[in-house]
Amino acid sequence: MPVETKTTCPYCGVGCGVIAAVGEDGAVSVRGDPDHPSNYGRLCSKGSALAETIDLDGRILHPEIAGRQSTWDEALDLVAEKFSAAIAEHGPDSVAFYVSGQLLTEDYYVANKLMKGFVGSANIDTNSRLCMSSSVAGHRRAFGADTVPGTYEDLELADLVVLAGSNLAWCHPVLYQRLAAAKARRPGLKVVVIDPRRTMTADIADLHLAIRPDTDVALFAGLFSHLVKNGAVDQNFIAAHTMGFSEAFAAAVSFPEALERTGLPAMQLREFYRLFTASEKVVTCYSQGVNQSSSGTDKVNAILNCHLATGRIGRPGMGPFSLTGQPNAMGGREVGGLANMLAAHMEIESAEDRDRVQRFWQAPRIAEKPGLKAVDLFCAVAEGRIRALWIMATNPVVSMPDADAVEAAIRACPFVVVSDILRETDTARHADVLLPSRGWGEKDGTVTNSERRVSRQRAFLGAPGEARADWWQLAEVGRRMGFARAFAYDGASGIFAEHAALSAFENGGSRDFDIGTHAGIGPVAYDALSPFQWPQPAGRGEGETRFFANGGFYHPDGRARFVAVMPAAADRTDAAYPFTLNTGRIRDQWHTMTRSGKSARLSTHIAEPFAELHPRDALEIGVVPAGLVEIESPRGSVVVRALVTDRQARGSLFAPMHWNDQFAAKARVDTLVPPLTDRISGQPASKNVAVAARPF
Ligand code: SF4
Repeated sequence: MPVETKTTCPYCGVGCGVIAAVGEDGAVSVRGDPDHPSNYGRLCSKGSALAETIDLDGRILHPEIAGRQSTWDEALDLVAEKFSAAIAEHGPDSVAFYVSGQLLTEDYYVANKLMKGFVGSANIDTNSRLCMSSSVAGHRRAFGADTVPGTYEDLELADLVVLAGSNLAWCHPVLYQRLAAAKARRPGLKVVVIDPRRTMTADIADLHLAIRPDTDVALFAGLFSHLVKNGAVDQNFIAAHTMGFSEAFAAAVSFPEALERTGLPAMQLREFYRLFTASEKVVTCYSQGVNQSSSGTDKVNAILNCHLATGRIGRPGMGPFSLTGQPNAMGGREVGGLANMLAAHMEIESAEDRDRVQRFWQAPRIAEKPGLKAVDLFCAVAEGRIRALWIMATNPVVSMPDADAVEAAIRACPFVVVSDILRETDTARHADVLLPSRGWGEKDGTVTNSERRVSRQRAFLGAPGEARADWWQLAEVGRRMGFARAFAYDGASGIFAEHAALSAFENGGSRDFDIGTHAGIGPVAYDALSPFQWPQPAGRGEGETRFFANGGFYHPDGRARFVAVMPAAADRTDAAYPFTLNTGRIRDQWHTMTRSGKSARLSTHIAEPFAELHPRDALEIGVVPAGLVEIESPRGSVVVRALVTDRQARGSLFAPMHWNDQFAAKARVDTLVPPLTDRISGQPASKNVAVAARPF
């Protein structure tokens, strides 16, 4: 009989439950977990192919120093020595960790604790900065904390689902399946898709708004104005639970201005505003098209303003909903795995919070100011200000903006540690010390998905070679740096228990994130832990499923804040770079393909790097369908296959970010993206890049 283990898919932020079965011959198969409340047995193509990606081909099986196999002791001693030396000579801010939404919460917790409490710097950032940091910043501005108010079920209960900058069908496929099934059962459920491209998601839409790139602020500021002028706001909710309504209304844009900036036909814009006004149960989902922008935080707040003004928040079938890209972007946020956050959603800028966390950890010091966010972090590496860098479970040489400059920076950094499962990634090949990590199916811990649901990832395979958990590697370095007591963990359950205890320490229930009920969890209960949504405060059983229906925001006065948002100039093109490039994902690949690229089945969907362009643009520049097109920005160039389609708006290109130098030469699309970020969140603007295109 096969041995079955309940675990969680390691790809997107939907966080689907998976049952992995290992047969007597060692063969692994996977199926959706019918009992998991986020997917009820469904899986998408990537999740279904998980068993095809767990072979040992290309794995790092032993620690390596300068390309030579070493013992764990040698490697860990060297890492601790180099980090300690850099700190002693150049100060705590001369070292940095760049981590990942692929890490489990327990890994993230130990990394954050080591850097912020024991090194004394906040130079720990994550590839989640590229994914959802604008949503975090928008939530904190409006709600006073980084809280997602709703649940997946709200998409099924709504009368109107607005998908802003989200290709749900490809990027959160199981959530799309749930929405499509709800719409099939109840055709009155309307779907509006806001996206410059006519994506596969737009095929389900009752209304597709192909706005000009980066004009979402004008679209929603115009909606806000429309709601007020048509008496569609909830005056009682505004009076009882919010601040700043008048200032936001003063900044809202008129219908003609929204029309001009978005470039939409008047009939379409009017219809969107009518639908939103007339539908009480509205959910607005937002993803990378909103977040990955130089105005990403304002876009989020423009959306939140409309939900706050109508009081459509925290009740069944209504509310704003941030869709995280990564499997554990939320878990990372919970433990403070961003350079501008402390653990348990506490504030790094707050002396009281810093003191509380330092006392809980019994730490010798605590970071006193926010650290370097991802783009700034690699700039600091390039400038020689970072003397020792530890990269875990991510491949920034492919995925960071200005990827060639990031590669040069890593190459020039005096000491680079990479923890990964594969030894030949574009980043791993620059490591001074390469540490073998455990992969999906081998490691144990928790992840949190987009609806705040914490699920276990469980090991069902033995670790190959000498691969060890990421938290173990960090703890061993912490011990060697002189902090033996603080990092004396003997398993993931003890780390989770400590994380839960910190969430309730002296502030249980006074903040949004509280899982204090799990503070005393032992290994057996941890192993049996069923998926749950936070909060779960100690002594109070189940927490709320939804937030804010009756106010209770996390600003000191308990009120939400409207934010006066201003539409920014959106067109970056000029005569030399006349096209706007939008980067993104495809259905069957994940990030830089180091794992999903192992499945031959997944590669049959789209086999090679490509760029979509409109037929008339293709004709004008002389690119033929399926021919090669060279795309160039001031930062670099790529050569990819031309996919000529009228799904793409004129004057714009779409290219996926997955391919790396292992799969195709000159296909790293992030080499084109400039290091331009949102001024508040630090999230890169990956969807509005001025480029030139020509036949190759
Ligand atoms: Fe995995 Fe996301 Fe697909 Fe679910 S929807 S199976 S979490 S990739």
